[in-house]
Amino acid sequence: MSSTLFEKIINKEIPSEILYEDDISFVIKDINPQAPTHLLIIPKKVIPKLSDSTQEDQEILGHLMLVAGKVAEDLGLDETFRLVVNNGAKAGQSVFHLHIHLLSGRSLNWPPG
Ligand code: 5GP
Repeated sequence: MSSTLFEKIINKEIPSEILYEDDISFVIKDINPQAPTHLLIIPKKVIPKLSDSTQEDQEILGHLMLVAGKVAEDLGLDETFRLVVNNGAKAGQSVFHLHIHLLSGRSLNWPPG
């Protein structure tokens, strides 16, 4: 099976600055930022979308949330950021390797579009 875009990034087949990495996850800047800070928090395990995750992914999913909080703190985002997971093409997902968007640095409206 061909690798996902994010596997190619972590395998250095596609260049991208890795802002954070551990055994389970890594964080990159989004190539098309929708806010002054727009990061992607990505598990190394390929889970195509959140709704494909199972009980065995519980630790990974929790870990991604903790990494989001840690990176936000390290970047001094002043405890003001939004996390987004697009699940499925109709919800805006374009890369089918689970990732959490972290957006910050501008006012964020609710409801989102
Ligand atoms: P999705 O639409 O699946 O929720 O989010 C995928 C995100 O990946 C998009 O925001 C898109 O801008 C970003 N993206 C697509 N290709 C690349 C790339 O080659 N490098 C980086 N850093 N981000 C990418």
